[in-house]
Amino acid sequence: MATNGYESGLKMIEELTTNAEQIQDEVLREILSRNAGTECLRGFLSQTDKQLFKKNVPIVTYEDLRPYIDKIVNGETSDILLAEPITGFFLSSGTSGGQPKLMPVTAQVAKKWELFRCLSESPVIKHFHDINQASKRMELMFARPEIETPSGLKAASVSTSKYNGSKFRTLLPKLYTSPIETIFCPNPNHGLYCQLLFGLIQRDEVVKVGSLFASTVLRGIKFLENHWQELCYDIKTGRLSDWITDSGFRNSASLIMKPNPEQADLIENICNCKSWERIIRKLWPEARYICCICTGIIRQYTTELEFYCRGLPLVSAVYACSEAICGINLEPLCKRSDVSYTFLPNMAYFEFLPVKKEPDGSIEMKSNDEDTELVDLVNVKAGQCYELVVTTCAGLYRYKVGDVLMVSGFYNNAPQFQFVERKNVILSVDQEKTSETDLFKAVTEAKALLDPLGFILTEYTSYVDTSSAPGHYVLFWEIKGKEGKHCKELDPKIMVECCSRMEESLHYTYKIYRKRNIVGALEIRVVKQGSFEALIDYCVSKGTSLSQYKKPSCIKSEEALKILDSRVIGKYFSPKSPL
Ligand code: AMP
Repeated sequence: MATNGYESGLKMIEELTTNAEQIQDEVLREILSRNAGTECLRGFLSQTDKQLFKKNVPIVTYEDLRPYIDKIVNGETSDILLAEPITGFFLSSGTSGGQPKLMPVTAQVAKKWELFRCLSESPVIKHFHDINQASKRMELMFARPEIETPSGLKAASVSTSKYNGSKFRTLLPKLYTSPIETIFCPNPNHGLYCQLLFGLIQRDEVVKVGSLFASTVLRGIKFLENHWQELCYDIKTGRLSDWITDSGFRNSASLIMKPNPEQADLIENICNCKSWERIIRKLWPEARYICCICTGIIRQYTTELEFYCRGLPLVSAVYACSEAICGINLEPLCKRSDVSYTFLPNMAYFEFLPVKKEPDGSIEMKSNDEDTELVDLVNVKAGQCYELVVTTCAGLYRYKVGDVLMVSGFYNNAPQFQFVERKNVILSVDQEKTSETDLFKAVTEAKALLDPLGFILTEYTSYVDTSSAPGHYVLFWEIKGKEGKHCKELDPKIMVECCSRMEESLHYTYKIYRKRNIVGALEIRVVKQGSFEALIDYCVSKGTSLSQYKKPSCIKSEEALKILDSRVIGKYFSPKSPL
């Protein structure tokens, strides 16, 4: 979208949010009138009436849909699920819930995504005026190879589909620093090296730095910490390092690289300083903001990212998933804790399953959905938490996305939501249930003990160890010392104290179960520097797109566990029950 085009985007957002109720009704009517005759809906619906839809159509999960999707994947016609022909599938990242899921894509879906991207950029461009002839975006982008299904239809992640689009490819050389070859590189480390190199070479033109998620920006900075000398050498000599063998990269590099010792010296001086605080600002002096999703599970990265980005706002612009496009952030400059996404009523038909927030902050998920009335988009209540249920033009009817959201307010008649948590990411030894939010709160309390001693918790994840009785919570922590300190210098007593602090900060049910010895003492396993990088490498090697990687707050795979366990350098247990 051109800088002056943002005004029409803002105008459209005004219209959509003002007429949210009417647009939602139209969206549902259109979906039902097109698809009421499909095998999937036929038994439940004879007409396109909203009340009948709400009464008869069951709420489903991916498992309920899987038989239809599997049939289509294997070559059956897609009209068993939806009337519009399927053009391919989106592959969800699957890092927060096990296996990747396949979501049908149609021409209408592709159009909606295109519109969504324009609309989501409008408030950002309004604030930062970031696009003109001489400005570029240094965005770290990684595509995964498409998968060809037996039906002949291709499956790709949402981001890969975007990078494959003709519009993106036309705009890329004008608006972005990364050549297309580096985005489609089979080896993400080669791609990352080159994207950083091209970003540094064009550093004076860069107005926006970003990636889809904050975790990828942080990975980029860490990679830079390990490779800046080599990158500077390449810039100085005007020659790409020999280990990058891809001919596409080398061609793109030869077009833009020429020996530039002055630039290399400047970058070297910046990178050579003791503290990397504000490094992004220093390396890309024209950058106005960092754009990446910072909410949900990703928020654990933002404290560290803010250190590197200090002086520049972190903008979390969109909330969307492979299943449906949801909302945009209309206040790009708001505080990190206030980020809310305003739902766009033309993207899908949205319903909301109320979930109860316990006084201790934990979320109680209703097990029996039939007993609970779903609430329409415009009728949600401020302060209330809901699980998102979507009906889309791509064959999802009353589909539970698995995200819990809280209503933070309204923009015109459209609600704004804060992302609360992924529903299923919890730890549980017995009847006690610990959500992602519970865990985040407890870790935040405990890690505060490290800060005054000059250490920072850079990464964490968890799992329930049931190999001994009673089972207990295990936290993997990667800790970094500030200003050259090594985490071996950390007093073990402090780590034991962190275990206690975590237990004290967990919810009441946990503490009761712990007191009764139904849950064993919480354990922190400190892992070597780079362990979480190894976890990313593993997931990427298994097919996860680096752009869409979301570190699980709870480890479920044996292999991932082995990767972290083999890098443990210290184990600490809580010495006493918190009650
Ligand atoms: P995928 O379908 O692989 O792109 O993953 C979509 C999931 O990523 C959503 O269901 C959310 O759990 C998470 N997600 C996407 N956008 C955001 C956001 N802005 N804040 C928090 N979580 C998000």
